[in-house]
Amino acid sequence: MFFQKEQETMPRRALEALQLQRLKVVVAYCYDNVKFYRDKFDAIRLKPSHIRSLADVKLLPVTTKDDFRDRYPYGLLAVPVDKIVRLHASSGTTGKPVVVGYTKNDLEIWSDVVARFLVAAGADHRDIAQISFGYGLFTGALGLHMGFEKIGATVVPVSSGNTERQIMLMKDLRVTSLISTPSYGLYIGETMQNMGVKRSELALKRGFFGAEASTKEMHDELKRIFGIVTNDNYGLTEIIGPGVAGECSAQDGMHIAEDHFLAEIVDRETFEPLPEGETGELLLTTITKEGMPVLRYRTKDLTCITKEVCKCGRTSARMRKIIGRTDDMLIIRGVNVFPSQIEAVLLAIPEAGSSYEIVVGRQGFMDTIEVKVEITEGNLLLDYGLLERLRNRIRAKLKSALQLDVSVRLVEPMSLKRFEGKAKRVTDLRAKN
Ligand code: ADP
Ligand code: ZN
Repeated sequence: MFFQKEQETMPRRALEALQLQRLKVVVAYCYDNVKFYRDKFDAIRLKPSHIRSLADVKLLPVTTKDDFRDRYPYGLLAVPVDKIVRLHASSGTTGKPVVVGYTKNDLEIWSDVVARFLVAAGADHRDIAQISFGYGLFTGALGLHMGFEKIGATVVPVSSGNTERQIMLMKDLRVTSLISTPSYGLYIGETMQNMGVKRSELALKRGFFGAEASTKEMHDELKRIFGIVTNDNYGLTEIIGPGVAGECSAQDGMHIAEDHFLAEIVDRETFEPLPEGETGELLLTTITKEGMPVLRYRTKDLTCITKEVCKCGRTSARMRKIIGRTDDMLIIRGVNVFPSQIEAVLLAIPEAGSSYEIVVGRQGFMDTIEVKVEITEGNLLLDYGLLERLRNRIRAKLKSALQLDVSVRLVEPMSLKRFEGKAKRVTDLRAKN
């Protein structure tokens, strides 16, 4: 099923012609309406008319999160604030948040692109959607909310937290789609088991688990817990929120809404374009946004893209699951490690629970890394021999996956922190030294 079939199945040549036409318009629009872009163009003597092909996008300067922060709150708006009908902001753990503004038209496009991936995953007007993302400035909740309303589904805007009540509502309202971060999905699943609610008592069919990195193994675990189909979808505040890309029912990568967002994969240091299929940093350019258009935004997210037509018939490029953010990459004794690599190993071991924590430190000149992982069966704690064998097995698997010796600490079930939004599983103590 398609939400906007024409746009979603447009032949690639037509799609690329449309992208080029829109790119030229947005570049001129940025130059004319946003001082920040005009100054940057002038500094390198770039004129909007220099953009003649899609490949010319590489002539444009990149935009970073700091550019948003430095011009907080309204510096990157291309329209007067009175044309803005909604503001959102990213959480911004340190310093000022990133504030973004949407015109009426931007909200239409936003809800369209969310509706597209919902329908691509099989949702329709009969769905009852429980939005268990935290409502507020975070784009996740309202983005999914508008997308579900657009397809005529029934929205339950429950927000995050109060997990037992979530389960009661999910059961009583016959909810068919659950929307949360993968970490909160797991927590909801565990709480459900602790309450003695069986998955057969729910009407749940689908879970849309996005907004943070999650491995295929994590989705497999969520599928197992709820007995549902899970969907991964990607987006970010600076670009629009959720809806930049999402999986279809073929589950072979996330379709990028390319008629609205131009995606590039570049070398993360040189920004040189990488050939199709190679992994690098994703840069995104909005080609239809009015309120706050963004040119070549450095997402810091690492992935790769394929442009092959998907089994579902959609012609848009698909991005693989995000490996991680460059910011989250740990360098341990010279070895690059992404938390997602550790997650994939742990979740493939049935005796290891799905909650884990990574603590990085330093002893003398030596980096240390410890992975705390819950065991699934509490009575394993009574058998030291079994426990030791499990610990060694996890350690050996981590070593072969990471080429790094990691110390493993097994902890009791339900003893690690749970998350109602995006998880924070890594503590790096080295920064303080
Ligand atoms: P914040 O930066 O405060 O977390 P956002 O909600 O805008 O605010 O976060 C966007 C980021 O979340 C993306 O750049 C990406 O790193 C991550 N993200 C969002 N969706 C996914 C996804 N499906 N898979 C992996 N990472 C994701
Ligand atoms: Zn597809």
